Amino acid sequence: MKEKIEEIISYVKEKIETIEKSSDCQNLRIETLGKNGKITELFRFMKEVPANEKQALGQLLNTAKQQVESIISAKETFLQSKELEEKLMSEKIDVTLDLNPDEVGALHPVTIDFMRMAEILTGMGFSQIDGPEIEYDKYNFELVNIPADSPSRDMQDSLYITNSILLRTQTSNTQPRAMEKIKPPFKVFSFGRVFRKDDIDATHTPAFHQLEGIYIDKKVSLADLKHDLSLILKKYLGESTKTKFRASYFPFTEPSVEVDAECNVCKGKGCAACNGAGQYEILGAGMIHPHVLELNGIDPNEYSGYAFGFGFDRFPKMRYKIPNAKVMFENDVRFIRQFK
Ligand SMILES: [Zn+2]
Repeated sequence: MKEKIEEIISYVKEKIETIEKSSDCQNLRIETLGKNGKITELFRFMKEVPANEKQALGQLLNTAKQQVESIISAKETFLQSKELEEKLMSEKIDVTLDLNPDEVGALHPVTIDFMRMAEILTGMGFSQIDGPEIEYDKYNFELVNIPADSPSRDMQDSLYITNSILLRTQTSNTQPRAMEKIKPPFKVFSFGRVFRKDDIDATHTPAFHQLEGIYIDKKVSLADLKHDLSLILKKYLGESTKTKFRASYFPFTEPSVEVDAECNVCKGKGCAACNGAGQYEILGAGMIHPHVLELNGIDPNEYSGYAFGFGFDRFPKMRYKIPNAKVMFENDVRFIRQFK
C-alpha cells in the first residue's frame, strides 16, 4: 500500500511539470482525488485491511491526499495568476485611440456659462461648495430666517416630500450648511438646480438654476458688496456694462438690494430680449441678516457678511438667444449639440 501511495505521488509530481494550463490542473485533481481517482480507490481498499493497521494506513492516505492537493493547487494558483496577467496585457485598452472623432459631446449652455462665472469667482478668492437638492426644511427656510409662520414662505411655491423634507427652493440652503462647517472668514459660492411648483411656459420652469455667493468676515460692508458685485458683473457681462443697485426686501438679508444690468443686446435702448425696458433684473443680494448669523452660531457683533443670488438661466438664454426656457430642461441632444 505504501508503495502504491508513493507511486501515485511521484506520478502527480511528474505529471504536474507537464501541465501548462490551469484548467488541466482540475483534470489531474479528478484523476487522483475525484470519485474514481487513484487515491480515492485506495480508500476503498481500507475495508480489506486488518483492524490493527487501519489507523496507521488511514493517516498515511490522508497525508497523501493533502500532499497531492497541495501540489496541484500550488501549480494551479501559479498558472491562474500568469494567465490573468497575460489576459490583462493582451486586452489593454488604448485610451488615446480616437475611435469616433465625429461624435464629441457638447456641454449644456448653462454649464458653459457657469464655468465662465466659476472662473471669475475663484479668481476673486471664492471657493465652490455644494448643497443637496433634497433638503430639510430647516436648511431651506428656518436657518435663513424664514420660520414656519413666515409669509415669505408664500413667495415660493415649494415641492414637499415629507413635512420636513422638500426639493430646495433656493441655493440659499448652502448658507447655513457653509456656516455649520466652516469658521469665518470665508468666501464661498454654490451653483445648482432649485425647484418650485410652477407651470411651464416661455419664462417659467419647475426647475431652474441659481448661483449663490457668500462672504463672511469682520467688517464686511455694503460697500464691499457693491464693489465685488460690480466687478463680477463687469467681468461676466463686459467692461462697459452699466449696473444699478436698488433697495429691495429678502427675509435673509438686511439691507437687501436688487441689481439691474443694462441690456447687452440693445445697450439700454430697449429690445425684445429685455421686453423693451433697456435693462433687466439680474440678481438679489444684501448684507446677511444678523439674525441669520445668530441662528447659525456666528456672533453678529464680531462678524458681518454679504450674500448674493443669481437666477442663472437668463444668461445662456440671452447669450444664445434661446426663446423658450423649457428646452433647457428637456435633455434633447439636438438642442445640446448646437453648443459644440
Ligand atoms: Zn434690450
